[in-house]
Amino acid sequence: MRVFVSGGAGYVGSHCVKDLCEHGHDVVVYDDLSRGHRGAVHPKARLITGNLGDAATLESALSSQTFDAVMHFAAFALVGESVDQPLMYYRNNTINTLILLELMARTGIRRLVFSSTCASYGTPRQVPIPENTEQSPINPYGRSKLAVEWMLADSAAAWGLGSCALRYFNACGAAEDGSIGEDHQPETHLIPIVLQAALGQRPHVSVFGTDYPTADGTCIRDYIHVEDLAEAHRLAIETIRPGEATAHNVGTGQGHSVREIVEAARRVTGQTIRVKEAPRRPGDPPSLIADATQIQTRLGWRARWTNIEKVIASAWKWHRSHPAGFDDR
Ligand code: UDP
Repeated sequence: MRVFVSGGAGYVGSHCVKDLCEHGHDVVVYDDLSRGHRGAVHPKARLITGNLGDAATLESALSSQTFDAVMHFAAFALVGESVDQPLMYYRNNTINTLILLELMARTGIRRLVFSSTCASYGTPRQVPIPENTEQSPINPYGRSKLAVEWMLADSAAAWGLGSCALRYFNACGAAEDGSIGEDHQPETHLIPIVLQAALGQRPHVSVFGTDYPTADGTCIRDYIHVEDLAEAHRLAIETIRPGEATAHNVGTGQGHSVREIVEAARRVTGQTIRVKEAPRRPGDPPSLIADATQIQTRLGWRARWTNIEKVIASAWKWHRSHPAGFDDR
């Protein structure tokens, strides 16, 4: 397939591009490099530098050849930032996706895989969370993504768009071959922060909230390896049917608390990792764990990375060998 990948220089996007290229697909990456990295783009993919909000550049990129499908990653994805700057999130995540969808309609591309999020559920009544749980996000990030899911469902009915929204839980880890990994500036995600502390790049890890209604008082998340996510995207794109909007959770079905992640990282790295208890971070639900049976049944997907120490070890390999990330700033 010829696949147009928005945000293919970002963390999840670049791992999906690598997986597509390694499975014989022909990939064009469209990325403004504001948060992504040129060095993360697989050498077999062609990079076009542009922002989704720039409709003229996007249209010429989408018309530069015939595409069978789009994978759409370009977005901001930080809960805390979305609480501080909601309009920036609605513009980048929601309005810019609307521009992409309008141009897909115009250029006749009828297949889309969308990176959605478990943040669209808010604080769920039921954990593990099945897809038919009410989506009631508690932060602007989740709302900016849920609005896109609505556009996808309406577009399926109105103009035959086929789409699959993948609701990721906590993306983590790095490519097993060590070629690419996670590099955010500033870094806010738990596992890279813990590993930066192990490398001595930070004095400690702040544990955001120790009074949650969980066994050890810290938040529980479902950490899904980025290579498992990549496989889910490839299976999704190969099975999308025009006119049908589907959505699947992508997670392992297992939860780990913040304290458990720090403990696992101590075992993997052999380093002392200091922690400091800190107040809760606004917008964080106590526990998010996927019920991932639907994607297993419908797409035959299964998480391979189910051992949290191996997941952290893959990230550790990347961070140790790339202490300054892609080093392109
Ligand atoms: N977290 C933490 N300290 C940090 C970063 C994150 O305690 O320095 C917690 C955060 O409150 C959440 C979990 O770790 O409960 C995962 O956060 P992350 O930002 O990695 O992902 P998110 O859940 O926001 O997608």
